[in-house]
Amino acid sequence: MRRMDRPRVAIIGAGPIGLEAGLAARTLDWPTTIYEAGEIAQHLQHWGHVKLFTPFSWNRSALGMRLLDTLGLARELPDANAHITGHDYRTRYLLPIAQSDRLANCIRTGTRILHVARKGWLKDDARDPKRAFAPFRLLVQQPDQTQCIEEADVVLDCSGVYSHANWLGDGGIPAIGETAVRPQIVYGLEDILGASRKRFAGKSILVVGSGYSAAHSVCSLARVAEDNPATWIIWLARNGRSQPLPRIPQDPLKERDRLAAQANGWATRGNGNVEYHNQTGIESILSHGPDKGFRVETNCDGETSIWEVEQIIANIGYRGDDGISRELHVGPPAPPSPMTDEPGFFRLGIKSYGRDSRFLLKQGYDQIKAVFAQIAGRPVLEMNSVKG
Ligand SMILES: Cc1cc2nc3c(=O)[nH]c(=O)nc-3n(C[C@H](O)[C@H](O)[C@H](O)COP(=O)(O)OP(=O)(O)OC[C@H]3O[C@@H](n4cnc5c(N)ncnc54)[C@H](O)[C@@H]3O)c2cc1C
Repeated sequence: MRRMDRPRVAIIGAGPIGLEAGLAARTLDWPTTIYEAGEIAQHLQHWGHVKLFTPFSWNRSALGMRLLDTLGLARELPDANAHITGHDYRTRYLLPIAQSDRLANCIRTGTRILHVARKGWLKDDARDPKRAFAPFRLLVQQPDQTQCIEEADVVLDCSGVYSHANWLGDGGIPAIGETAVRPQIVYGLEDILGASRKRFAGKSILVVGSGYSAAHSVCSLARVAEDNPATWIIWLARNGRSQPLPRIPQDPLKERDRLAAQANGWATRGNGNVEYHNQTGIESILSHGPDKGFRVETNCDGETSIWEVEQIIANIGYRGDDGISRELHVGPPAPPSPMTDEPGFFRLGIKSYGRDSRFLLKQGYDQIKAVFAQIAGRPVLEMNSVKG
């Protein structure tokens, strides 16, 4: 029987939204476990060199600030208007929250949730109100790789999308040969100006994508090319726009707009080390061996081109791992809603936006408020971001 007066809460993922949800559950004194496959805010650690578009005041919550204030740590936080890196956000805001007495004992790092189901019910079973009273069963992979089943009354899936990059081929499936060479392709945001500089300096690099991640990669590579003119960047996009990134009119996030303008400038000015090709799809990828480069076949309006490049960066977006909830009544994401058809199961954070890349942390904080109000049957938390 599910206990809803003081439900056992299982949170999948200790990213910013999983941690904030954990803080909310612990504030209500509900038994809480946060399962984290890697380290705290593992995905942020990967792209920690990137500066956040949003000022710090958008990325913190009232609950988090109250806790850090109680711990005497609020004074050490960044200025409300500061645009800090992901690394700074993790070490100065998220880690102190995760390591606080309120959360530390609830978090299990190195622990992956493989599947979630409803005890005694299959997905195909006729819809029956009794289903909602059965607890959830979680198949848990522990740090020593052994598996066990644990139960919960409420499951909050905050597992993000970053570790599931989209494929390069037309229609979203792999290009010919892509599955075999996937480990040699960069699918995320490398620290091109820092730790990974040597991998790209003086090389020919194919960058695929037309979002802010691709813009970030191209701008960083263009800066590398200023010091090392042998660096050559071929930027490919599927869309037909003459400028890779659409500018948001009067974008309230100035840093985001600055990146779009800068990347579009590199793509169109024609005198740098960047060449831009739109309406181009990837047909096939052949690796010449680890660190020996690739032969890439593309198609533009029926015309085939062959590119010989040394590196490939695929910044074509991410998708959530929906396999976790395969046996539940959970449909595709419907942003900005965290609700699903499975009572007690919620999808929050960037995963709730699916392939829509417009998610911002402050929307995640609003989702948490809505979810906890639904579970408790009344508003229970005041978690608007703080002012000042
Ligand atoms: C480069 C970049 C810049 C961004 N800039 C901004 C910005 O300026 N402002 C803003 O508001 N938003 C920004 N975002 C969007 C968003 O806020 C971040 O992606 C944020 O990290 C999302 O938080 P999350 O908690 O939903 O997911 P994540 O941070 O992705 O956390 C998910 C966690 O779940 C864990 N996990 C995954 N699967 C499992 C499993 N099966 N079992 C257990 N644990 C699991 C992962 O290891 C990870 O720690 C940016 C995103 C990117 C990629």
